[in-house]
Amino acid sequence: MIHKKVTIVGAGNVGTATALLIAERNLADVILIDVIKDIPQGKALDIQEACPLWNASSKVAGTNSYEDTADSDIVVVTAGLARKPGMSRDDLLQRNAAITREIAEKIAKTSPSAIVIVVTNPMDAMTYLVQKVTRFPYNRVIGMGGVLDSARMRSFISGELEVPPYDVRAMVLGGHGDLMVPVASSTTVKGKVIADILHGSKIEAIIERTKNGGAEIVGLLKTGSAYHAPAASIVEMIENIFGIKNETIPCSVYLDGEYGVKGIYLGVPVRLSSKGLDRIIELELAENEKQAFIASAEAVRKLIQKIA
Ligand code: NAD
Repeated sequence: MIHKKVTIVGAGNVGTATALLIAERNLADVILIDVIKDIPQGKALDIQEACPLWNASSKVAGTNSYEDTADSDIVVVTAGLARKPGMSRDDLLQRNAAITREIAEKIAKTSPSAIVIVVTNPMDAMTYLVQKVTRFPYNRVIGMGGVLDSARMRSFISGELEVPPYDVRAMVLGGHGDLMVPVASSTTVKGKVIADILHGSKIEAIIERTKNGGAEIVGLLKTGSAYHAPAASIVEMIENIFGIKNETIPCSVYLDGEYGVKGIYLGVPVRLSSKGLDRIIELELAENEKQAFIASAEAVRKLIQKIA
């Protein structure tokens, strides 16, 4: 069986959890690469040894050399520092920009046709940076953030209403930061808009918890940030790229006037395909959501200006 090849840069919490899900679902062969010696090799071997139990034929290997990542179909960038309690995603900017820049240069040389999924925070700015350094077409560089934030919102609504999460739809747009925009107007439960089901104060509380969803986990873990739901969100994007799923999902993509924003990466609803970004879906936002989206765009633009 010929598998696609997915390289994951960064064999830390998110990278390893993603490798495990890809292998368990038999989606692709996986290369885990990290600057630390032996760790990616050890983690990859551990996952490889689980594959017989899943009847999975994915090959999983760890490395410290980009040669082994050559000609990947997808490269997922998870390398860099994660938040500690009290830090915002934006506090990671300069150090993660240096790491991301170096990785992007290597990806451009070794996997020139890859689709790149950027996860490292602050994610929208890092996605912009990867596109700028690789000079890949915009459709082949996409950031992961909205899928995770929307899954968190769905999980909170599901818990509040005691309904299965598959009955809940939610879209969190804008930057993957403190000014993200949970879009209540397109949040539904079994097709009914959330405002007709839940009291306004409850919706506000869910929106606030969604915005703080990452910080809530950082506060509990103390030494790292979330990785299981982030890994599942990366895999959701990969499954849409591979055509196994065909959903409208929020991803950070380059905007050229859509939603009134130009020249930066920001989270909007999209369709993904073997091309990477297939198309942007334009949703009708409520007036307050439009304003929040523009404020979020300005915050991301300021971050980008600090590293561009
Ligand atoms: P982690 O500390 O567990 O792992 C990071 C790994 O990157 C480490 O193993 C480190 O050795 C490696 N690394 C550092 N420099 C490298 C380089 N130049 N090349 C290759 N590897 C390198 O952190 P984590 O929890 O896996 O998080 C990784 C990043 O993802 C963080 O920036 C975090 O904020 C971000 N994140 C983003 C989202 C999102 O929704 N976009 C969600 C979760 C985490």
